[in-house]
Amino acid sequence: MTHPAAPKASHFINGAYVENTAGTAIPVIYAATGEEIATVHAATPEIVEEALASAKAAQKAWAKMTGTERGRILRRAADIMRERNHELSVLETYDTGKPLQETLVADATSGADALEYFGGLAASLTGEHIPLGEDWVYTVREPLGLCVGIGAWNYPTQIACWKAAPALACGNAMVFKPSETTTLCALKVAEILHEAGLPAGVFNVVQGMGEVGGALVADPRVDKVSLTGSVPTGKKVYAAAAADMKHVTMELGGKSPLVIFDDADIENAVGGAINGNFYSSGQVCSNGTRVFVQKGIKEKFLARLAERTKGAVLGDPQDEAVNFGPMVSERQMEIVLGYIEKGKAEGARLICGGERVDRPGYFIAPTVFADVTDDMVIAREEIFGPVMSVLDFETEEEVIERANATEFGLSAGVFTRDFTRAHRVIGALEAGSCFINSYNDAPVEAPFGGVKASGVGRENSKEAIKHFSQVKSVYVRMGDVEAAF
Ligand code: NAD
Repeated sequence: MTHPAAPKASHFINGAYVENTAGTAIPVIYAATGEEIATVHAATPEIVEEALASAKAAQKAWAKMTGTERGRILRRAADIMRERNHELSVLETYDTGKPLQETLVADATSGADALEYFGGLAASLTGEHIPLGEDWVYTVREPLGLCVGIGAWNYPTQIACWKAAPALACGNAMVFKPSETTTLCALKVAEILHEAGLPAGVFNVVQGMGEVGGALVADPRVDKVSLTGSVPTGKKVYAAAAADMKHVTMELGGKSPLVIFDDADIENAVGGAINGNFYSSGQVCSNGTRVFVQKGIKEKFLARLAERTKGAVLGDPQDEAVNFGPMVSERQMEIVLGYIEKGKAEGARLICGGERVDRPGYFIAPTVFADVTDDMVIAREEIFGPVMSVLDFETEEEVIERANATEFGLSAGVFTRDFTRAHRVIGALEAGSCFINSYNDAPVEAPFGGVKASGVGRENSKEAIKHFSQVKSVYVRMGDVEAAF
């Protein structure tokens, strides 16, 4: 019997579901049970061609519509997503294993926010008039053309919407490839956009592994690539895009610092550390996985953390009482367990968790290591699982230097009651998305993205418009042309 989460077909191209079973079979596994609930097929070269050709053909007419008309379609899609939030959240939970308690408030809702926000901005994307005496220059904000979006597996609905909404608002068309680990949700986003009136071909979804992503990035018709993924993949995709001087947005990994000073409100700081390490079972790029705690409050902080971590309710993620789900896949579980073993071997002090949970699915207990030092592997590499490293520090100067001693620069957070120190420290931390007395808030109104190896460009906010459009400037001479001869 077909599982209720199974998609109608593998791909969505030119306004319709499309199947081609000649492509490699990709199993859809429910992470909470390990059960295969459906199969999709990777795009063949013919499917990739169909998707790119349909996006290319649709883009010009889409760009010719007024911003108000484009925006209306995006806002209608946002309304449909909100009306169907429950159904979409159940699907997101099957796709990722994240608890329904989370997906009900963080996925389709966040996607809808992006569609509504960029739908609202679409009509206001204008150029400038620059007077130059009698002459003048005017500028036109133009779409880039054909954009490719490539997603990671932790937020499949949100990533598709965070890329599609600004791209489409600016008049671009898009071919989106979800992660091969979470293939379901982007198809629903495509279906809903079309139900809202999106012209066929403007947003297409094709499945596949890195190879399909590579084929999309290499195609000369593509003007821009927006990737959410790991740093190694980002380096490959950025290099491939450079061959044709394509625009890029890179939303990559991190090993972000969360700095907790002695004077912080302990309960809020513990809450921030929990949100920044255990939400989505730790599978969040911006997580504050290096928790620097000033020595004076260290033991108190650890005691409250261990106590509150007992509040994690593991179980069937479709049960709304559950607040902690499995790793997205067996592979990711093995990677995270490997890091936990390294932490133990390197001598970090295990405060809680540290093991796989004895039940079906890919569950790892929320894990906290204390007495972690900067040189340990668990303090240097992105784990992408529920593993928090607590490091000690004494002075502000010291913690800033240590927090910045990483190739990454996605996020950073500070907990303190001293307002001037909060701003001074955030000012000195090398990170793109920062938090004061909070952690991991990502409203669509705020720019999101990293510095250093964590990325290039920004998603969300008005900043995203700059990364999905370009400016043409036109000099207008009113008098005669002066020439040397
Ligand atoms: P990944 O890098 O393995 O894969 C990301 C996507 O790239 C997948 O769709 C994959 O199929 C595709 N891909 C792989 N090789 C490719 C190639 N050569 N050319 C084109 N496409 C290719 O990442 P993942 O394991 O899916 O996701 C986890 C990573 O994503 C973590 O590092 C995490 O920090 C990062 N992430 C970043 C953000 C952000 O916004 N900064 C958000 C979520 C996840």
